[in-house]
Amino acid sequence: MNDVSSHEPIVPSTPEGQVLQQKHGRKVARIAEQLRTRRSTAPLSRQKRTVSHQVPKVHDKKHTDEKIDLLDLDEIIEVDVKRRICIAEPGVPFCKIVEKTLPLGLVPIVVPELKTITVGGAVAGCSIESMSFQYGGFHDTCVEYEIITAQGDTLVCTPDNEHSLVFQMMHGSFGTVGILSRLVFKLIEAKPYVHLRHEKHATIDSYLASIKRHFELQDVAFMDGIIHSNTQLSLCVGDFVDEAPYTNRYDWLKIYYKSTAERIEDYFETPYYFYRYDQGVTNVHPKSFLGRLLIGKFLGSSEVLRIAEKARWLLLDDKRPDVTVDTFLPFSRLKEFLQWYEKDCGHYPLWCVPYRRVHDYEWLTDEFWKGFGDELMVDIAVYGMRQRGDTNYYRLLETKLQELNGVKTLISYNYYPEEEFWSIFHRKNFETVKAKTDPNNIFRNLYEKTCQASMGR
Ligand SMILES: Cc1cc2nc3c(=O)[nH]c(=O)nc-3n(C[C@H](O)[C@H](O)[C@H](O)COP(=O)(O)OP(=O)(O)OC[C@H]3O[C@@H](n4cnc5c(N)ncnc54)[C@H](O)[C@@H]3O)c2cc1C
Repeated sequence: MNDVSSHEPIVPSTPEGQVLQQKHGRKVARIAEQLRTRRSTAPLSRQKRTVSHQVPKVHDKKHTDEKIDLLDLDEIIEVDVKRRICIAEPGVPFCKIVEKTLPLGLVPIVVPELKTITVGGAVAGCSIESMSFQYGGFHDTCVEYEIITAQGDTLVCTPDNEHSLVFQMMHGSFGTVGILSRLVFKLIEAKPYVHLRHEKHATIDSYLASIKRHFELQDVAFMDGIIHSNTQLSLCVGDFVDEAPYTNRYDWLKIYYKSTAERIEDYFETPYYFYRYDQGVTNVHPKSFLGRLLIGKFLGSSEVLRIAEKARWLLLDDKRPDVTVDTFLPFSRLKEFLQWYEKDCGHYPLWCVPYRRVHDYEWLTDEFWKGFGDELMVDIAVYGMRQRGDTNYYRLLETKLQELNGVKTLISYNYYPEEEFWSIFHRKNFETVKAKTDPNNIFRNLYEKTCQASMGR
């Protein structure tokens, strides 16, 4: 029997929205039926329309797993201007959301910088961006999830109903606690343009002081930065504006991260601000001017990832993969990290995204949070570092982060031993939720999925 929780779901307010909601109900019924009638308990992977923004891996078992078809979960059900919310299916990419909401003077509160990151993937894989210093991650702006369990039941989960733990554990779950089938998230007012100032800092101390000041004063709408080196650090702060004297785009010959060292200010049409990194954040392809001239216009993040995924046997080195990792650190340990990183890693530039600790995420252990005194954390993203010598730089970062009370997201190669992994990620909370949503473990547990199956084990 299909169990819909006692919490009444947020429903669309317009006749068009209600028609789309009914259509959504039929899609959910199809997926639930497929799960309910499935006899096998072998692992199941999702099939969605847009490319996955996980680092492609040659032996990832998701390529050979049986699939559950989520291809049609890709519609916006309603943008409700009055309630300032959007109701959407998980497969909608942010570029489609912004296309629909911006003409109404609204945008999602956190808009990840790559055009085709989907709202569902942003929750399950932890998305962030330059508004995160005020609002945390995209998940923190969501108010309701509909989740289909492995048994084909449908749960409506909110931060404060009886499924609140399921709601919180969907964030950062990498799909291991069920299928997110519908989301309701908040929108904020937006303007047509963004004005950005690139502050230049020659020392880590001055850079950190400026981040702290903006965080305390909340005097800008956007804040992120590019660390070109420990003596050349750009902090990029900005606001929505109604008019712009000129605008720039970084989707062909010009490379955004380089502009942060060269310019002192910039103007963008709002969507081109959001997707300023779409050609690769700090790891832009192709790198040469000629390459960019010839094919740069056609190679956004989606295309690069799609090619890497399709030609993974040819292009990727599973033994010594380049390092792509998001590291989250307490703000108070950032200086120590940057000094260590310069000495032991030395790959630049780094992307720096301040992130407010809006909620102590239930998927991290109590011990982790005990060691974490700060109200502000910072994501330092290392994208495309070549590994040198015999050092496993992924593992080196995993170890160093633990020393500094940091954590990394699980989007790429993960080498944690199992016991160490569960000292960071909250096994008991995962098990409690999975007992309800996936008792036969058909979506794998977090360790199996991100540390074993993704690497072919
Ligand atoms: C090179 C690179 C650059 C990146 N840059 C940025 C950036 O600029 N800003 C940023 O915020 N993030 C960035 N990320 C991280 C990105 O936000 C996350 O990887 C995010 O999860 C990608 O979302 P997606 O839509 O591509 O989802 P996918 O990659 O397809 O899925 C992510 C995870 O969520 C699970 N999942 C997907 N849909 C569902 C669903 N409906 N129900 C349950 N589980 C589901 C999948 O199984 C998977 O484990 C980057 C990642 C990479 C690899």
